[in-house]
Amino acid sequence: MNLEGRRESSNVEDRRGLSGGAKAGIGGIGAIIIALILSFFTGGDLSSVLQNVGEMGTMGGEETTQQEFTQEEQELAAFSKKILAGTEDVWSQIFQENGWGEYKNPTMVLYTGSTSTGCGTGSAQMGPFYCSADQCLYIDLSFFSNMRQQLGADGDFAYAYVIAHEVGHHVEYLTGTLEKAHSQMSRTDKTTANRISVRLELLADFYAGVWANRDNRMFNSLEEGDLAKAINCAQKIGDDYLQKKAQGYDIPESFTHGTSAQRMKWLKLGLQTGDVRYGTTFQQSDSQL
Ligand SMILES: [Zn+2]
Repeated sequence: MNLEGRRESSNVEDRRGLSGGAKAGIGGIGAIIIALILSFFTGGDLSSVLQNVGEMGTMGGEETTQQEFTQEEQELAAFSKKILAGTEDVWSQIFQENGWGEYKNPTMVLYTGSTSTGCGTGSAQMGPFYCSADQCLYIDLSFFSNMRQQLGADGDFAYAYVIAHEVGHHVEYLTGTLEKAHSQMSRTDKTTANRISVRLELLADFYAGVWANRDNRMFNSLEEGDLAKAINCAQKIGDDYLQKKAQGYDIPESFTHGTSAQRMKWLKLGLQTGDVRYGTTFQQSDSQL
């Protein structure tokens, strides 16, 4: 990607170097579900979230430690802030065009290890996630180096896709899709809830593609090979791929984020059209997804 001269978003809370919980939040089952389903992929260990939710509401003893960032960490933080700024510009325009009201910017929280969120304690093992209770996206930047090492998903555009996917959940929140889906999920069985979750995730992938298309139209940001990097990433985070890699087989009923083929398909559709009207994951039957 070419991000030269691009502005960095100021809607960023940098908690790197902070230890303990920084914020009191809302606990409860609903909040746990939000945190669980909206992490970027399901490969992580989510048990720590469940264990820690009971601690919500207490203010942690917060301490600032001196921390020096490596050049890579500095670059990744600056990169993430530029990508976030791009999503602000693109989504403000799309909201205006479609009469969706004013786009309210989310906050990106950078942290290391674990941190308190409006949806329970967030930890690095979960991967990046969005919490609608506080409208924040939470990212431990070490995720990006893990992506490279464990998933072989390298490239700045793949990282941008991760951020844009979480922003996609924020768009779902602002448009009411998230709440509607969550309320359906809370009233149904696990398998049906998973099928709804897949639709939310694929829609976020689609929105990430829409963002990339429009960001490129505004700023000429995409370069040769970028597309392939994001598609490769989408392939490596499909539920079928991750489950087969972890246990040798997959259980389709347990999918919450979609298969590799589905994640690639919806990301690509957004990239090609740049048009939110094609974001119809909730209108498709399972076989069409
Ligand atoms: Zn997601």
